[in-house]
Amino acid sequence: MPATPTPTATPTETPAELVARLRATFRTGRTKDLAWRTGQLERLRALLTEHGDDLADALRADLGKSRREAYRTEIDFTVREIDHTLEHLADWLRPEPAPVPPHLAPTGATAHTVLDPLGVVLVIAPWNYPVQLLLAPVVGALASGNCVVVKPSELAPATSAAVARLLPRYLDTEAVGVVEGAVEETTALLEQHFDHIFYTGNGTVGRIVMTAAAKHLTPVTLELGGKSPVFVDRGTDLKAVAGRLASGKFLNAGQTCVAPDYVLTDPETAPALAEALAAAVEGLFGEDPAEHPEYGRIVNERHFDRLTGLLDSGRTVTGGAHDRDTKYIAPTVLADVAPDAPVMGEEIFGPILPLVTVDGLDEAIGFINDRDKPLALYAFTDSTAVRDRLLAETSSGGVGIGLPLAHLTVSDLPFGGVGESGMGSYHGRYSLETFSHRKAVLDTPLS
Ligand code: NAD
Repeated sequence: MPATPTPTATPTETPAELVARLRATFRTGRTKDLAWRTGQLERLRALLTEHGDDLADALRADLGKSRREAYRTEIDFTVREIDHTLEHLADWLRPEPAPVPPHLAPTGATAHTVLDPLGVVLVIAPWNYPVQLLLAPVVGALASGNCVVVKPSELAPATSAAVARLLPRYLDTEAVGVVEGAVEETTALLEQHFDHIFYTGNGTVGRIVMTAAAKHLTPVTLELGGKSPVFVDRGTDLKAVAGRLASGKFLNAGQTCVAPDYVLTDPETAPALAEALAAAVEGLFGEDPAEHPEYGRIVNERHFDRLTGLLDSGRTVTGGAHDRDTKYIAPTVLADVAPDAPVMGEEIFGPILPLVTVDGLDEAIGFINDRDKPLALYAFTDSTAVRDRLLAETSSGGVGIGLPLAHLTVSDLPFGGVGESGMGSYHGRYSLETFSHRKAVLDTPLS
């Protein structure tokens, strides 16, 4: 049963009024109590389990997501994040002792750090995983004892509406507010003084967010994207590589921030890998992926048109079919792609996988380092030396060796980008560090 039955937020409340109301709540101190924090997380968990099917319906309407995928990548994912946080929160909040240097030792002083909630934080989410990418940061914000304004993406309108309807029925409405809307509404929100802004989306808007935040000296977390490369080494088991690569790439029709964007491999491996990928796609989605219940759709016509404009960037090994009415683009593998082909410009963010040939590891590392630092780097290799060199000589938000995407399901790993792929990180205890201030305390007795 929802514990807070009547939403107090009125549709006519301005962003300034909303933030002031939440700030007043924060000042009472009640969001700092461990019991309040765990209570909110339990209610969020109840929302997800009691209304999982409503959210899955919304995800199908917005993105053609299958029920299985909706639960696996959004609803159950967020429930796991909540469970992990509930299990460890008291531990994470324990003051952390720090050694006292010799010059202070005679005073009998002790030192430690404590995690202080920040206050009122803003979470702005994108459309591609509109439940997970909205609510997983909220888990961290609430666990840290903050009040939160959440702004779902207008490009996933059914999910946005479902979240706006459900959150106030479950969470403390004096501490959590939902603002739906697009650029105008987000711009008005960004004029307010928040204590942290957590933004997930593209780098252009990331810059707008950071500029607005700078006016108030508000810290930001920017979870952005970019072209995540894959290196496939000579002599690896290409059937296994192709199966894992295709599963990761074509999940959510390729609209995943850490999706493998392009593959670097040598000219001898490329043809066999291309064939193995074609077979893997057929294994996953059958002869006609348009008919397969697990295959998603492109979010809107603008992205559909952008993506179909990239389809002739190379030789089509599999896929290429598309239908604007249903926003369907088949899982597509392109071979013989030139480094300067259109598909190698921006992040693809759709179901097109280009194969680019390089002479070997040196050229692959050079290729990666010539471009923006990616959110993820993937490698398939049996060689420890290759793995070590990739780790040592490239920079990326995260690394997946042998399996794309899965690193972000490890709650004890930080998830975030570097350089153009973002700043800051979250998940598990890293969310606590993001949504809290680690306060230094030196305690010196008077006598
Ligand atoms: P989007 O269009 O839904 O935008 C994200 C949010 O920004 C929305 O809430 C939107 O209302 C807001 N917004 C849009 N324009 C704005 C403006 N001018 N001013 C203020 N706010 C504005 O999502 P998107 O940006 O298309 O998302 C796709 C991108 O996000 C890709 O680059 C992807 O790689 C990246 N991404 C990153 C992660 C991650 O965790 N690092 C996850 C998902 C997506």
